[in-house]
Amino acid sequence: MAHDDDHLDGCDHDCQSCGAAPVPGLAACPYCRAAYAGLEAGAACPGCGCLSVSGRGVCAHCQGALTRACVFCQAVSLLELAQCTRCHEAFAGAVERKRERDRLARSAPPVTNLDPTGANIFNTLNAILKK
Ligand SMILES: [Zn+2]
Ligand SMILES: [Zn+2]
Ligand SMILES: [Zn+2]
Repeated sequence: MAHDDDHLDGCDHDCQSCGAAPVPGLAACPYCRAAYAGLEAGAACPGCGCLSVSGRGVCAHCQGALTRACVFCQAVSLLELAQCTRCHEAFAGAVERKRERDRLARSAPPVTNLDPTGANIFNTLNAILKK
């Protein structure tokens, strides 16, 4: 079976595990999930679970999107990437982090020039100067 592995298109031999015809663009058999030899796998499709080859934005099996939009900058990145290609926020827990930041931004006290410590020093200085 090794003599078939250097066919990059992967179209002319069946799955080595179950015998199903290979699907171009997939990195693993859609039926038995056996990885095709010599192909780098990208993200698993959220719709059908198939592994497309790395770098694809669309599932080669069901045509579902293999991309996601960043909650911080709305840039679209490949599902196989761990972080946004634009702002480099990690996707893991991004929704929770965004929610927490929004909450902190809303509850943050308004910026004020009144520094209690500075005011006390100012009063102390005034008191000294008035003597
Ligand atoms: Zn198979
Ligand atoms: Zn799919
Ligand atoms: Zn981003």
